[in-house]
Amino acid sequence: MILPGATLGMLGGGQLGRMFTTAAQTMGYNVIVLDPDANSPAGIIADQHICAKYTDETALQQLAELCDAVTTEFENIPATTLSFLEAQTVVHPSSQALATTQNRIVEKQFIASLGIPVAPFAAIRSINDIDAIADSFQLPAILKVANFGYDGKGQVVCETIEAVRQAFQALGEVECVLEQRINLEREVSTVLARGQSGNITNFPLAENVHINGILHATTVPSSVPVQQAQTAIQMADKIAEGLGYVGIMAVEFFISQEGDVIANEIAPRPHNSGHFTLDACETSQFEQQVRMLCGLPSGNCELKSPVVMINILGDIWGSSVPHWDTLLSRPNNKLHLYGKKEARPGRKMGHFNVLATSIEQAATIAVQSFENLKAD
Ligand code: ATP
Ligand code: MG
Repeated sequence: MILPGATLGMLGGGQLGRMFTTAAQTMGYNVIVLDPDANSPAGIIADQHICAKYTDETALQQLAELCDAVTTEFENIPATTLSFLEAQTVVHPSSQALATTQNRIVEKQFIASLGIPVAPFAAIRSINDIDAIADSFQLPAILKVANFGYDGKGQVVCETIEAVRQAFQALGEVECVLEQRINLEREVSTVLARGQSGNITNFPLAENVHINGILHATTVPSSVPVQQAQTAIQMADKIAEGLGYVGIMAVEFFISQEGDVIANEIAPRPHNSGHFTLDACETSQFEQQVRMLCGLPSGNCELKSPVVMINILGDIWGSSVPHWDTLLSRPNNKLHLYGKKEARPGRKMGHFNVLATSIEQAATIAVQSFENLKAD
């Protein structure tokens, strides 16, 4: 076990890294963040910030020498960065697990190889690949860049094959995956922790609403029937086992109007839909990340209260800042801001959790609080 007083490394300085840093520091660990941005949300609160690129070997060498263990908040860290560190210190998740989740084609093939349903898809690397599936692929579909997509970026909905061709060209003819659009009944996700012994603990299933491909709201407990919830959690556990995963992992699922549970994607890190755990669970997903990294037993994942989490995007900044006073005037609203200086549309600036005695009540307060927050 790596115990308090030790130094933990975090690759990536975004909000997930920041909340990990807070959890680790609360428990008595030192945290060093590596991120190329001088003002990264995690870098500014870490014990030390190494401001360098993820491929800078001198910086990685320094991180490896200073840290007892290293983890990440971001799947787009080059897998070679993790393998470089693995040769010198404890690293979770592994470079191999990260590599599998970095590329949508590899990721979907891996999930399907476990017998877990994914949306029907085709790898698109050239216009020829589009011609080859033109007669058989069921539209509408979504063309997604295979690498580096997040928050719905690099995705185009296509109603016709001609639209797929145009979208592929507009995306710069980079490697893509064409995915059949599922008629969604709901979206859910699960965050799990898997330790070095292979023991898995699951946070409660979360129900998610996205707006323009970006998570807007998460509700827990979900309204999903028990059978579907169990199926999703079992699938997520199977994926973690298949990857030999150690650490915190999230899996996003679609639930189709036909009632099928379909895996969407894996996040090899804490997840936005797990932010409810900060206030509504005995242990947050970030404390759990610290525990898994350090070889400690997992914390209690139990839900203490119904909760609705709402994301705060840069969109709600107007000529003035949002009305924090109205949000905070509610005793059970929990505000988390990430310390980002500049608000831009679509940028995740923070979130808030609403705790209440029922989901209905939490949802009502969440909607009102969000409306009142919007700046003029
Ligand atoms: P993030 O990493 O933030 O989750 P992302 O860019 O990886 O985002 P996806 O999870 O692939 O994006 O898609 C974002 C959202 O778009 C989904 O949560 C869902 O609402 C919608 N979506 C994506 N793919 C499909 C699909 N095949 N069928 C129906 N809806 C889809
Ligand atoms: Mg997603």
